[in-house]
Amino acid sequence: AKEEGKNNAQFYSEELKSGSLERLTLEQSLRRALERKEFLLYYQSKVDMATGRIIGMEALLRWQHPELDLLLPHQFIPLAEENGLIVPIGRWVIYTACQQNVAWQQAGLPALSMAVNVSARQFLDDSLLRDIKGALATTGMSPQLLEVEITEGAMMVDMPRAVSVLQQLRKIGVRIAIDDFGTGFSALSRLQAFPLDTIKIDGSFIHDLPGSSADRSLADAIIDLGRCLGLTVVAEGVESAEQVDYLRRHSCDQVQGYYMHEPQPACDAVHAIQKNLIS
Ligand code: C2E
Ligand code: CA
Ligand code: CA
Ligand code: CA
Repeated sequence: AKEEGKNNAQFYSEELKSGSLERLTLEQSLRRALERKEFLLYYQSKVDMATGRIIGMEALLRWQHPELDLLLPHQFIPLAEENGLIVPIGRWVIYTACQQNVAWQQAGLPALSMAVNVSARQFLDDSLLRDIKGALATTGMSPQLLEVEITEGAMMVDMPRAVSVLQQLRKIGVRIAIDDFGTGFSALSRLQAFPLDTIKIDGSFIHDLPGSSADRSLADAIIDLGRCLGLTVVAEGVESAEQVDYLRRHSCDQVQGYYMHEPQPACDAVHAIQKNLIS
């Protein structure tokens, strides 16, 4: 038994070592990724229900790791949140998204909104406002076109502070969306405290539409809530014509999802915009 215990301990420490080594290596390459220009943004459309037109884009972060495949946010954002690298990475995201928005407009495309995601640590960091103002000033992007998407959870970490940051963003004209709405279990009464423009219904409530009666009730309730508060309601994760049809009949303002467009690099997104313009 003693021998076995020793082997186990050895086994676990090897496991741990390789685990933390992997983590360490990932962390080291994450630290260099910015200067090595390995990040890129994909863009996913937001489509207006009434007109079928693309009215905005959401920037979604990707990391072209030198040895691995294209990495998705869930593979590195939690680590970047933990070690604070999310702050400089987020600064790059905001700047790049603004720059892209201006470039598209200069190329003659209609004015589209551009949404960026901001996670909890980034939202609570002192530099967020400065970074956003800096990106707007440097690129010349109109603040009214910029939308910041923050999850319900991130807003609740420090509510008074969140309200104050959001008010300051609002003051410069930036719009605010509450992301993954419905997953945060926050009291609805608290929602009114936040200066919001948009509610994004989490994809988990859309997934089983129109079949699931529970999801129908939830989606309807969120759409009504948004309407009552005078907010724009966006459904995310829309994957079928039936879902679009249901959401249209239930007065959802905008849809986003693979059924319309998958997130894609800027050059492909531009084709989607052009095609949508003439369709
Ligand atoms: P999110 O903001 O809720 O973004 C929506 C996610 O759903 C994206 O995953 C998108 O690719 C995916 N998606 C879009 N349409 C569909 C669909 O029809 N069906 C399904 N099943 N999925 C769909 P992605 O790009 O992997 O991003 C995951 C999360 O990572 C985002 O969730 C956001 O919270 C975070 N994230 C992305 N970019 C950034 C960033 O630049 N900064 C920060 N802080 N977080 C980011
Ligand atoms: Ca989002
Ligand atoms: Ca979301
Ligand atoms: Ca569901």
